[in-house]
Amino acid sequence: MENIIQPVLSIVAIINIILSLIIFSRGIRSFSDVIFGLIALASALWSIAIIGFYSEFYKFSVNWILITHFSAILIAFLFFVFSLYFPKKISLNRFVIYLYTIAFLIVNYFVFFTDIIIGDVFGNSYEISSGYLGYALLIMLYFLSGFFLLFKQYKSTKDTAQRKQIQYVFIGSFLSSTLAIIPDLIFPYLTIFSYTWLGPIFTLMMVISLFIAMLRYKLFSIKVIFTEIISVLIVIALLLEIFFVESTTELILKVIVLIILTIFSFLLVKSVYKEVTQREKIEKLATDLQKANDRLTELDKQKSEFVSFATHQLRAPLTAMKGYASLILEGDLGKLSTQIRNAITRIYDSSNTLTNIVDDYLNISRIELGTIKYSFETINLKDLVENVIAELKPNIEKSQIAFSFHSDPNKKFMVHADKDKFKQIVANLIDNSIKYTPSGSVAVSLEKKSEHGENKIVFSVKDTGIGIDPLVMPKLFAKFSRAENGNRQNIHGTGLGLFVAKEIVSSHKGKIWAESKGEGKGSAFFVELEEVI
Ligand code: ADP
Repeated sequence: MENIIQPVLSIVAIINIILSLIIFSRGIRSFSDVIFGLIALASALWSIAIIGFYSEFYKFSVNWILITHFSAILIAFLFFVFSLYFPKKISLNRFVIYLYTIAFLIVNYFVFFTDIIIGDVFGNSYEISSGYLGYALLIMLYFLSGFFLLFKQYKSTKDTAQRKQIQYVFIGSFLSSTLAIIPDLIFPYLTIFSYTWLGPIFTLMMVISLFIAMLRYKLFSIKVIFTEIISVLIVIALLLEIFFVESTTELILKVIVLIILTIFSFLLVKSVYKEVTQREKIEKLATDLQKANDRLTELDKQKSEFVSFATHQLRAPLTAMKGYASLILEGDLGKLSTQIRNAITRIYDSSNTLTNIVDDYLNISRIELGTIKYSFETINLKDLVENVIAELKPNIEKSQIAFSFHSDPNKKFMVHADKDKFKQIVANLIDNSIKYTPSGSVAVSLEKKSEHGENKIVFSVKDTGIGIDPLVMPKLFAKFSRAENGNRQNIHGTGLGLFVAKEIVSSHKGKIWAESKGEGKGSAFFVELEEVI
């Protein structure tokens, strides 16, 4: 039995040291990091002390049994402190903390400098003194207080990740402390000393569970674990070799190699760890970005809602302005002087323009919110176009452009469409042609065509105006798109009309497009819808 104790405890000591080094290698982030490192080192010290106790070679050089007792109570005390700081700092009466610390110091004084707790050491056993019960109870008190603090921590947090961390710590420490108490505190009481070496092995469970909890298990990337396992195995293999050396020179040589390799393994794990944390940081940035994006989408939605609301409110007074201006112009409220007529005409035109702009914004916000509603009906597109032309007559006449409308008088142009929205599109296209044609002609037409056995109706507006630059063409129907030449010609445009038109036409399962041979060479706009027969 005894010949396996030393190799096994060496492994336990090495694992403890490596775990503490891993935590220290990430850079100390909190007090609980330090405490964990100390717990792991105390646990390693315990293993080493037991190795020393069983080793013939070192047996009498140090009082190893005192060191085992010191490290065992140190672990219990540190566990209590760890529970105060992990995962969060938790408040506890200062008096209790001072009392626990003083008790720790006093007990260790008794361990090292008196025989109140441990008496004489004989061979592989030792004498238990009357104060041993106090020592054992204090260890249990530290653990119980630690469990109580963990329970408090668990209650006070709603964070599922933190709760999981606490569970890890609790399960590991509870199992290892209850298991270790049997061979290390109860058995010696019954003068059974041959199992004390199990203590550090059970404690390793606690150290590992604390370690997992601290790394928040997500950092357990395969890469880090793999590097760690390989490094640990190499170091263990080298360590075991030390027990089989035949000369002092070989011992020195192997110890040097072991130290160098441990340092290199430490650096290797550290660098792999760094890589993993950097990747995590990037992942975090990506989620932050996603969050910011969600927030922006939400703000964008709120903006659309605001625009929708505001424009809706603007519509009613505008309709009143337009209505009264038209009433005055028609002479219903009495005769007008030329001066007043001109002024009212300006008011009428401006309120008309404003109504169109408001309608565009209203439509856009509804498109963006997905609340635009259509009421489809079967209509004769010819009637609709004629109505729009009649409404635009004052504009057409004012512009002194040669205007024409052509369609077969004997045919009907039946389509399935939202009348009001389509009126807006037709008005916008004709209005644009007039706006962007300083002089020349505008020809509107309605035609039928048959394509792949489907009957279509094509509405077109062709002008001899400023034309469209081929570079502008691809983004002509985009939101707020205004060409440079268009800007010069008509400074009041919004660049929304064509965007809205495209959206509405697509909802009608139709097509809208523009053609132009370039700047100054006129433009043509087409809308194609399926014919209803
Ligand atoms: P707005 O006319 O209010 O600027 P539109 O969306 O109706 O907005 O038109 C977008 C742009 O397309 C205009 O600014 C203009 O540059 C160009 N455009 C539209 N119709 C014509 C046309 N008939 N001839 C030349 N350019 C046009």
